Amino acid sequence: MRRGFCFSFALCVISRFAGAQAPEPRQLDWNAIATEAQGILADYLRINTTNPPGNEMKGAMFLKNILEKEGFEVQILDSTELGAGRANLYTRLKGNGSKKAIALVHHIDVVPATPSFWDVDPFSGVVKDGYIWGRGAIDMKGDGIAQLMAMIALKRAGVPLNRDIVFIANSDEELGSTGALVFVDKHPDLLKDVEFLATEGGENLFSNGKITYYGVSVSEKRTFWQKLTVKGVASHGSRPTKQNPVPRLVAALDKIARFETPIHVTPGVDKYFRDIARLYSEPQRGWLSNVAVALRNSKAREWILSDVYWNAYLRNTISLTGLSGSNKVNVIPPEASADVDVRLLPDQNPDDMLATLKRIVGDTAVHFTTLLKPKAPLESPTTSDFFHAVERAAHDRDPNAFVTTNMLTGASDRPSYQKVGIKTYGIDPFRIEKAERQRGVHGNNERLSVENVGFGVRYVYDILRYAQ
Ligand SMILES: [Zn+2]
Repeated sequence: MRRGFCFSFALCVISRFAGAQAPEPRQLDWNAIATEAQGILADYLRINTTNPPGNEMKGAMFLKNILEKEGFEVQILDSTELGAGRANLYTRLKGNGSKKAIALVHHIDVVPATPSFWDVDPFSGVVKDGYIWGRGAIDMKGDGIAQLMAMIALKRAGVPLNRDIVFIANSDEELGSTGALVFVDKHPDLLKDVEFLATEGGENLFSNGKITYYGVSVSEKRTFWQKLTVKGVASHGSRPTKQNPVPRLVAALDKIARFETPIHVTPGVDKYFRDIARLYSEPQRGWLSNVAVALRNSKAREWILSDVYWNAYLRNTISLTGLSGSNKVNVIPPEASADVDVRLLPDQNPDDMLATLKRIVGDTAVHFTTLLKPKAPLESPTTSDFFHAVERAAHDRDPNAFVTTNMLTGASDRPSYQKVGIKTYGIDPFRIEKAERQRGVHGNNERLSVENVGFGVRYVYDILRYAQ
């Protein structure tokens, strides 16, 4: 393991005897850091943290070992609350405390992988065709290692810091989010000076070797899953009855499927469309420059809403997903139920949405149960030191690219941290082709290019430096 080192003897002597003055940051060998980070990522991917059951403790101990070699004090936390084999990890790189801290957060767990659909063993961390392969490479062990090495690089270089850098690795993001929830609940003392937090959520637009924009997610949809249940009377399928719950449920679902949720433009989404308008020619450019107005024009509306992402940015969405009735063709079941994946825009009221659904169904025999309560609403400012630091780091790399605020249609742990007053951002430290991400994240053959690892470390390093 490389430690902080001095490039020349003379520099060492000067920095040691500089007295009260802050030492000049030491030069770093970025190629060596990239190679080191690639090796660490491959090792991290070899630790199977499939959730369930998670086994995040193994990942946490792996990170702890690396951090301790670099001189960090590391805490392994919350095992009692999270259960056997699970843990959160916390450490901090101290600054001079004149400004509030920045937290880097990633989740140790990964979603399950089906090896038969993969070209390689999903937990091999194998390097092949210029990629490091493994479940979690993009979501989000790769991000975690970019954060880790950026913080280590700041320490090795001796960069003067006004803000502490907090590093947190959580359990269970992919299932119940209990890692972040427990951490926030049990350790307000560790978070009380944190102003900004960066984790997953943003998405850079990269195609044909060129980056168009760097995405910073300032908002995200809120999961509000529902189960609809209708009770009936079980009987033989050969003698139809009025007490069969299946047709009643189907009628309710049909009404929901036909319901169009209203369009609503939130601030981050409005900025996103204005930003990307430059990529289009007229009339689309004009439409995107003022999406709220354009959505009143039927042609513009049809074009905008035909994009599944944009549609989800602009409204609460409802997807009918799970369905269960009888498990035998000749049996009328005593109960029928359906799962409905409802996602709310950041500023929408869950109670209003539930009331709307009940009104549309218009049948008191259909019972609604909330499977997952929405997390706290999230909309972070685009005028903060952190956002400006991302803009500067992005501009350094690609002067023609811009930074925009694409919304996360899924869910992250950000709302759990936002709830305690932290401004949270989703950033993407890599240049990944859209198709690569689409296939890999929660899919098969997830992998990150070797070149991306070094890019990510340095991008995060610069953001942290500029945000001081
Ligand atoms: Zn993730």
